[in-house]
Amino acid sequence: MLDVENLAAGYGRVQVLWDVSLQVQRHEIVALIGPNGAGKTTLLRALSGIIPVAGGTVRLHGKPINGRSVEDIAYRGVTHVPEGRRLFAGLTVRENLLLGAWRRRDKNLEPVLELFPNLRGRLNQVAGSMSGGEQQMCAIARGLMSQPALMMIDELSLGLAPKVVEEIMQRLPDIAASGTAILVVEQDVDAALTVAERAYVLENGHITMDGQAASLLADPKIRMAYLGVA
Ligand code: ATP
Repeated sequence: MLDVENLAAGYGRVQVLWDVSLQVQRHEIVALIGPNGAGKTTLLRALSGIIPVAGGTVRLHGKPINGRSVEDIAYRGVTHVPEGRRLFAGLTVRENLLLGAWRRRDKNLEPVLELFPNLRGRLNQVAGSMSGGEQQMCAIARGLMSQPALMMIDELSLGLAPKVVEEIMQRLPDIAASGTAILVVEQDVDAALTVAERAYVLENGHITMDGQAASLLADPKIRMAYLGVA
């Protein structure tokens, strides 16, 4: 569904990504892991059109989308949940969710409230006053309101307690099953490789490994570099 071939991107003359190829299929959860500064956020920005693609091709449902605007790419079904959630902190949870439904005529909140029941009692609460975990749930729920084909989540676990990360991660398979594929960038490699089916390792702007998440989780190189265990 998402097919990235030999992508190059960066900031002005500073190239950050070289020759990046990756795929995400419908109903799939794919993790993107790698050290700080490897270019993970940059890759999500290039895929959602925030920064230009300098080389290679990005296809969604077989159609090239590189060179298109952020709005156009979003309209075609790519949602980006950015690092740090970026909710409208002064608006209520309901208002944040409704803003996520810009692409739809029916603005039914029920499916996302079933997915994240914690939000149900907080619809009239100002989003910025919720806990970090609730804010992340709200950010993901807002992204889902547009019924995207692909949701890209940057640093889901940022600043959250492990239990909360686990609680949110457990919702991802339901999201994927309902038709929104997920590309998740994650520092918490253990959590990411546990929930994902496949994963890519990005180092210094290059994809250095990829495969089934379970085999990467068992790989001694990954265990040493990202989990601190042999
Ligand atoms: P982290 O997990 O630390 O966020 P990352 O893998 O997401 O790391 P990026 O944030 O994509 O990495 O950064 C990749 C490189 O691009 C870094 O060297 C960073 O300094 C550089 N970079 C990021 N944003 C910009 C920008 N707006 N202008 C110039 N360089 C940038």
